[in-house]
Amino acid sequence: MSDDIRVGAHISTARGFPRAATRTAELGLDCVQHFTRNPRGGAQRTLDEREVTAHRRRMEELQIGPLVMHTPYTVNLASHRAETVEFSRRVVAEDLQRCHLLGAPYLVIHPGACGKSRVEDGISRIVAGLDRAVDDAKDTVGAGVRVLLEFMSGQGSEIGSTIEEMAEILGRIECRDAVGFCLDTCHCFARGYEVHTEDGLEKFLRRFDQKLSLSRLKVVHVNDSEFGLGTRRDRHAPLGRGELGSAGLRNIVSNPVLRRLPLILEVPVEDQEDYADEAELLRCLSVEGK
Ligand SMILES: [Zn+2]
Ligand SMILES: [Zn+2]
Repeated sequence: MSDDIRVGAHISTARGFPRAATRTAELGLDCVQHFTRNPRGGAQRTLDEREVTAHRRRMEELQIGPLVMHTPYTVNLASHRAETVEFSRRVVAEDLQRCHLLGAPYLVIHPGACGKSRVEDGISRIVAGLDRAVDDAKDTVGAGVRVLLEFMSGQGSEIGSTIEEMAEILGRIECRDAVGFCLDTCHCFARGYEVHTEDGLEKFLRRFDQKLSLSRLKVVHVNDSEFGLGTRRDRHAPLGRGELGSAGLRNIVSNPVLRRLPLILEVPVEDQEDYADEAELLRCLSVEGK
């Protein structure tokens, strides 16, 4: 089997899903991430059967995969507002269906932010909301679709920035078999995990394995970080131009566990075109690091 890394990026579907697949291939990417719906709202564009069939066929022809879907930023299962939790639960359930329809194995969600309420209460709401959403979309999970909880930077009242918080969620949910994890290199670094050094990254992954099992780690968002280690500030930077820098990113893409996972870029670019260069840079770093 080839030892090459699989690089993808977050690509817009504003002009339809099949078009996005073509764009992904043109940019030289191997895998891709899309929003399930409007990221700052929640409105869902209708998907007709023709578009779905065309998209599935094109993804296969172009050998792009896996397809990773990301819920909108408005999803917050930890919210102290009942309407927000209800909206979030419905969106997660509907988006699991959408993943199933499109052939996407993974739905990435941010665990949530508890605002001024207590973290323990936020975690309880995440646990209840996840179980209900997965139960509402049982058939999709039965067919293999997984919810991936994304590790956050811990900005504001965000929950799910540490291995321990994730372990608590995982330990309390009933839908454990339907849940995996997504790392974000910027978030982990900003939270204070020394993923930029060989020792730091190994220590993090060892602890991850003990508490969560590495078999649940499915996707990595590869981003440089505008802010330093432990700042708990979430701002992505282009590769090599942030605090992780080329050396930190080289360490990440050389790691034998991480380099075999889909590596999705979510770095700020002026034009989607620029993802081609960012992907190339990541591939160079992965080769140098070997
Ligand atoms: Zn995210
Ligand atoms: Zn981020």
